[in-house]
Amino acid sequence: MTHWIISTDLDGTLLDHHTYSYQSAMPAIKKSLSKGIPIIFNTSKTLPETIDVQKEIGVSSPFIIENGAAVYLPKTLYRELTDHIKSKSCREDYQYFYNSLGIKREKILDHLSKLKTEFNYDFTGFSELSDKQLMALTGLELIQAQNAKARSFSEPVIWEDSAVQLKNFKMQLKQVGLKVLKGGRFYHIQGHNNKGKALIWLKNLYQKFYHNIDASYDVKVIALGDSENDVDMLNCSDIPVIIRSNNHKAPSVNHKQQIISNNIGPLGWNNEVLNILNKQKT
Ligand SMILES: [Mg+2]
Repeated sequence: MTHWIISTDLDGTLLDHHTYSYQSAMPAIKKSLSKGIPIIFNTSKTLPETIDVQKEIGVSSPFIIENGAAVYLPKTLYRELTDHIKSKSCREDYQYFYNSLGIKREKILDHLSKLKTEFNYDFTGFSELSDKQLMALTGLELIQAQNAKARSFSEPVIWEDSAVQLKNFKMQLKQVGLKVLKGGRFYHIQGHNNKGKALIWLKNLYQKFYHNIDASYDVKVIALGDSENDVDMLNCSDIPVIIRSNNHKAPSVNHKQQIISNNIGPLGWNNEVLNILNKQKT
């Protein structure tokens, strides 16, 4: 028997690129949840941003934040899983158990400030911006800006120096175990975590749980994403769905089962998930 889980990117995938609406995906979301298929948000968003989207849509599955930096498991659900699994790597906060795979932001900020002082680089990080400055830069409302700043495992920076200096900067960060990811507006400094590694950790947790019930049970993943930072997640899934975008090229995925959505954003999400669920007879 196969137990499916869905791992999905948010912006441009489940949420419309411009309006952030998920309405056109509701039929497939409802159908998945009614079949007991968890919908794992696997996003570059922060903890409070991701919790907000979960509440809005009505999803309470585990989730992965800040590009694979941490996996969060609601305590109620995790107890069910831990009846069978003794995992020592998880920590606890108010409502969740979590496993962090990333590098703590304080450590990242420490490296950044040292490099800035020593090499006189010209860049500005989120941590140096006031809420008002960030609101002006991004067009976010106050609460949204505060939630976007509430990062635990990464630091977005605005690079104001030359391309040559950026190359040096990247090399120096690499030496201390950090990498630079180019986002739409900012460069994100983070550890070598990615959405795929975090998904594999979570999939294994489900796998152990189901194997304890019946060794013939199998866990399989449908993954959906629209960008470069989704490639690791798509490649390690069983059915990768590339959600088409009007804003950029489809990322290149190396997988025999890959599907490219006919529609864009949440409508593409809806139609492809319904198709897969119907075919798999889940
Ligand atoms: Mg995206």
